[in-house]
Amino acid sequence: MTTVALKDVTKVFQDGTVAVDTINLDVTDGEFMVLLGPSGCGKSTVLRMVAGLEDPTSGAVMLDGEVANQLPPRERKIAMVFQDFALYPHMTVGDNIGFPLRLARVEPGPREERIKDVASALGIGDVLGRKPSQLSGGQRQRVAMGRAIVRRPGLFLMDEPLSNLDSGLRAELRAEISGMTRELGVTTIYVTHDQAEALTMADRVAIMRKGVLQDVGTPTQVYGRPATLYVAAFLGSPRMNLLEASVYVHLDRYVALNLGEQSLYLPWHDIRSRAVAHYHGERIVVGMRAEALTPVAPDTPGDVLQGRIRYLEHHGHESLAFLDIGATAIVVDEMGTPLEATEPGQRGLRRFGQVMQRLAGRAVDP
Ligand code: ATP
Repeated sequence: MTTVALKDVTKVFQDGTVAVDTINLDVTDGEFMVLLGPSGCGKSTVLRMVAGLEDPTSGAVMLDGEVANQLPPRERKIAMVFQDFALYPHMTVGDNIGFPLRLARVEPGPREERIKDVASALGIGDVLGRKPSQLSGGQRQRVAMGRAIVRRPGLFLMDEPLSNLDSGLRAELRAEISGMTRELGVTTIYVTHDQAEALTMADRVAIMRKGVLQDVGTPTQVYGRPATLYVAAFLGSPRMNLLEASVYVHLDRYVALNLGEQSLYLPWHDIRSRAVAHYHGERIVVGMRAEALTPVAPDTPGDVLQGRIRYLEHHGHESLAFLDIGATAIVVDEMGTPLEATEPGQRGLRRFGQVMQRLAGRAVDP
């Protein structure tokens, strides 16, 4: 078993770059934790500190409840897979996978058995005799995985392992990797800047920005109830609609969200009213996902806003409508209610079917 805990971990490089700023994060035994964030936000530096390849400037890296800051990498029972994994070109697939076992002086018999087990688990049992140059990109990546897991690590660290592969293969390997680590029960920390990868693979996602941890939670939590405006805007395609609004509470009747030229009236007993009622008299930012907004007929009563269609975007499985609702623009997922019949520029009503229950905070970018 392996657990990882980062306690107030900071990394300042010699040139003064603060790559990681006071991060606290717990990874539980067997968990698949994804570190997600844009390039340069410090994800790899966190991973390298867990591996022991980089020393924290301050704070503690704990493995299985013990401070491991001084523990050399080879004593951490960790396996790593990187984006530019290097296989030994002159060795066969089998020898590449078995290399760590040879270093550990495992006898040839048990070694061969273990190689076969790992290779068949990864679906490369039939290419054990080939050289890396005779493999596809996906097969090479599987060999790198095989070499990493062959010694049954307690902790698996992966840094963008799929980023050099084409998108079809990435999606396929994504499922394989998360399936494999779960089957093995190995605690995993996986670094990526690809949110689709993060949301599909993770038990929990930790989102970083400029060295600072912004939010940690299950994919559903960080997507549905983002902790900061940054996370709200960062996750999801199309981006979440973020609208500034003034809140007015009319006790026992409704809560009005004044969006400038229009207001949205939420019935008092609506759960969304309770979420905003304590911001009475304040300006806030309201977050609404495109898929939470439903187009309705122009004369529909209730919590409805009017919008002017600017343009429509068809994606095959969905169509997005970009609408002006006064000074601001929003995007709405049509969800099977095609708007082809509506001329661009024509006015129509759009209903806020399920405004996100949580509002993403005040009108300031943290
Ligand atoms: P990417 O996805 O591009 O790999 P990342 O989120 O993994 O980015 P890091 O590689 O951890 O980011 O880098 C975080 C910050 O620290 C960046 O500003 C980077 O330039 C800086 N950095 C990394 N290594 C060093 C170093 N050895 N010396 C100085 N600055 C460094």
